[in-house]
Amino acid sequence: AGHSEPPPKLVLDLERLQSVPSEKAGPLARYAATIQSQRGDYNGKVLSIRSDDLRALAVIYDLPPHQLAEELIGWGVLDPDARRAVSQNG
Ligand code: C2E
Ligand code: C2E
Ligand code: C2E
Repeated sequence: AGHSEPPPKLVLDLERLQSVPSEKAGPLARYAATIQSQRGDYNGKVLSIRSDDLRALAVIYDLPPHQLAEELIGWGVLDPDARRAVSQNG
């Protein structure tokens, strides 16, 4: 006790994302592909994203950020530990 942990990172599992039906995963997959392209980061099995990007995705999915995080956790695309990252940021 006494030490504050850094907030967990939002890490997308890109392999799991490929197995999610595209009518659900499509917007997220396109967003992740855009970030990969901007970074030149094409070969990863996972992709760390900005917490701001989860907020942008929440607008796209028309859900509050914490509820989108629950969806992504349910798909197996986001680690349950990411809940702490979202609740800290609203
Ligand atoms: P930028 O935001 O001007 O960032 C320039 C460079 O600063 C990035 O080049 C990266 O080397 C570093 N950088 C910025 N923020 C972070 C960070 O939180 N963590 C780490 N490790 N490095 C950081 P990079 O990666 O080649 O990205 C180029 C541009 O692509 C970025 O320019 C930004 O406009 C966009 N981009 C890349 N990844 C993301 C992302 O996850 N979300 C968003 N919204 N844009 C991104
Ligand atoms: P970590 O953040 O726990 O990431 C563990 C491994 O997950 C990374 O090993 C990499 O294989 C994968 N990974 C995580 N995020 C991404 C991503 O956005 N794209 C890709 N392609 N792979 C990802 P790696 O690369 O050997 O890095 C080991 C550790 O080094 C990382 O552990 C982190 O602590 C540090 N590190 C690496 N790159 C950065 C960075 O850009 N920013 C910061 N702050 N730390 C970094
Ligand atoms: P990280 O690299 O460990 O960075 C953790 C946090 O430090 C970032 O959380 C951000 O708040 C801050 N930070 C790190 N580097 C920069 C920077 O160059 N400029 C600014 N303004 N802030 C910075 P955030 O934004 O939630 O990002 C979470 C993770 O997503 C980063 O962890 C990194 O793994 C990845 N990421 C975000 N943006 C970029 C980017 O532009 N390029 C790359 N390669 N990775 C990024």
